[in-house]
Amino acid sequence: MKTIIIGGGAIGMMQARELAQAGVEVTLIEKGLCGQESSWAGGGIVSPLYPWRYSEPVTALASWSQGYYGNLAESLEAESGVDPELTRHGLMMLSVDDQAKALEWAATHKSWAEQIEKNEIYKLEPNLREGVCSALWMPQVGSIRNPRLVRALYKSIQREPLVTILEGSTVTELISRSGKVVGVKVEGREVRADKVVIAAGAWSGDLLGSIGVKLPVEPVRGQMILFKAKPGVVNRVVLCDGKYVIPRRDGRILAGSTLEYVGYDKQTTEPAKQLLADIAIDMFPALANTPIEHHWAGLRPGAPDGVPFIGEVPDIENLFVSAGHFRNGLVLAPASVRVMTSLLLGQDSPVDPEPYGLTKRLVSSEVA
Ligand SMILES: Cc1cc2nc3c(=O)[nH]c(=O)nc-3n(C[C@H](O)[C@H](O)[C@H](O)COP(=O)(O)OP(=O)(O)OC[C@H]3O[C@@H](n4cnc5c(N)ncnc54)[C@H](O)[C@@H]3O)c2cc1C
Repeated sequence: MKTIIIGGGAIGMMQARELAQAGVEVTLIEKGLCGQESSWAGGGIVSPLYPWRYSEPVTALASWSQGYYGNLAESLEAESGVDPELTRHGLMMLSVDDQAKALEWAATHKSWAEQIEKNEIYKLEPNLREGVCSALWMPQVGSIRNPRLVRALYKSIQREPLVTILEGSTVTELISRSGKVVGVKVEGREVRADKVVIAAGAWSGDLLGSIGVKLPVEPVRGQMILFKAKPGVVNRVVLCDGKYVIPRRDGRILAGSTLEYVGYDKQTTEPAKQLLADIAIDMFPALANTPIEHHWAGLRPGAPDGVPFIGEVPDIENLFVSAGHFRNGLVLAPASVRVMTSLLLGQDSPVDPEPYGLTKRLVSSEVA
């Protein structure tokens, strides 16, 4: 079987890797360079923020993926020579006003969350601002370093004989014959395949829109800053009122992120930089004297309630979508890819694919 995957983000590259490993011939088509959009720009927390506030379909994908990430990171390092730096340093959440719900959710979802007090908090994070008396602690949560993950994925698929990578190649059209998709147009040139998977992140709705299918996926900008800190200033992912700091192994600290509905505008803004810096410094005053090394923005593929679309496009044979992973594309990726593989190859899926299907969600739902 020949498959085209449109989009070389984490979802598209992971899908290409898995299909090739299952013996499927893949052409991965990317308009720019692989792994340079949202999948590069994100924070790489391997958990939804406040996971108990999400619906069961998001939890199902996240839980399966979290169990799989260790194995994936090791395999990718062996295949590519790039360590994606999966680090299980835990997630500390301050000022959680629905903590009882969180603890109940953790108990029923085989997840580990506990309330910790002052002594434990400052043992874990000695540089945290003074006066924090209580926090919610999820010790098993980790993070992965996005640029390294996408580089590892890229190198892994590059060495796969069954994968052809076309970069700098924009898919401009889907080619269909008698209700069946048979390929795509890449700037005037035709590329044919038995099945086509749209994994084009925030841009996925545009391609489907061109054939009259309304997929409610839209770009949601997120800005991020990077402090050039020394190791030990921040040791865990720390989250407060929706904003977070994430330490990397070399000491650098990411602070994010904004949630902005500004279309495809990927510009960074000074007010956002200031806001993120202020929040990070409020959490960790030592950052006040730390240079900000980088400031960037990425476009998340926003979808209603954060539930991705993974399935075949109704009434158009051979056309599939895996998009709309919104704020959780990295943590949801392994399970999403496995669901799509099972649909393409007619295998059993470890996660019930039904909630992610397109049939009932194209017409009635809209991005919040
Ligand atoms: C600031 C920020 C913080 C985040 N933090 C986290 C986090 O901590 N944890 C987490 O799990 N997730 C996080 N996310 C979300 C996560 O990064 C995304 O959900 C995920 O990267 C989406 O992956 P993707 O492959 O669908 O999209 P992308 O990485 O955007 O890839 C889509 C690709 O498709 C290509 N493309 C588009 N149109 C075409 C076309 N017509 N032809 C060819 N190629 C095309 C694009 O160029 C792009 O490379 C964050 C995102 C941002 C922006």
